[in-house]
Amino acid sequence: MRDQDDGSRILKAALIGDGAVGKTSIRRNYLGEDFIEGHLATIGVDLATKKVLFEEEVVKFIIWDLAGQPTFEKVRGHYYHGCNGLLLVYSVVDRDSFDNASKWLVEAYRNMGKLPPTIIIGNKIDIRDRAPYSERVSTAEGKEFAQYFMKKLDVPAVFIETSAKTGENIQEAFSELLRMMAEAEDDKSQHYVGK
Ligand code: GDP
Ligand code: MG
Repeated sequence: MRDQDDGSRILKAALIGDGAVGKTSIRRNYLGEDFIEGHLATIGVDLATKKVLFEEEVVKFIIWDLAGQPTFEKVRGHYYHGCNGLLLVYSVVDRDSFDNASKWLVEAYRNMGKLPPTIIIGNKIDIRDRAPYSERVSTAEGKEFAQYFMKKLDVPAVFIETSAKTGENIQEAFSELLRMMAEAEDDKSQHYVGK
């Protein structure tokens, strides 16, 4: 997709996952904005843009921040279309959000057919040690989940654990996603060569 004003290339990614897992905080940290302690639920959809270097070209990277509440499912359906990448977020101190992670991928799959490159993010690692044992999601569990879905839905996925509070691995998560998105583009163009 290209920008109608300046013709620059546009890449689109969406943050998905249960409410309060840290999607908005992750986006804010990536954009260099301050961390907010309180939870202000995202209503409907938020969007942020950042200029990034992608395959030696400055492109407009749009990050959709979707509301996690089930009532917004109809609204969300629309935003999956045309996504070049997904960031699926759960909280490592909220077991329900991890159990629901597969539902989010299935919803995306329902709306998009084949899934684009996806980063699976276990967020809030700064407070994992303090959480009740029954709520904690381990690194091994996250990895296993990511591997399972990669095979089942045939999606290029990378698993990473982050803290939007300390900023740990946030830049890495987005650069991995951009790298995978570039790879997917290359695959596509190679596909066209022979035709
Ligand atoms: P969203 O509903 O998924 O967009 O979640 P938010 O970004 O609004 O965050 C929900 C709550 O979790 C807020 O109170 C944040 O301050 C907090 N939070 C988000 N990320 C982290 C994190 O990495 N560590 C800690 N300790 N708190 C976090
Ligand atoms: Mg939010």
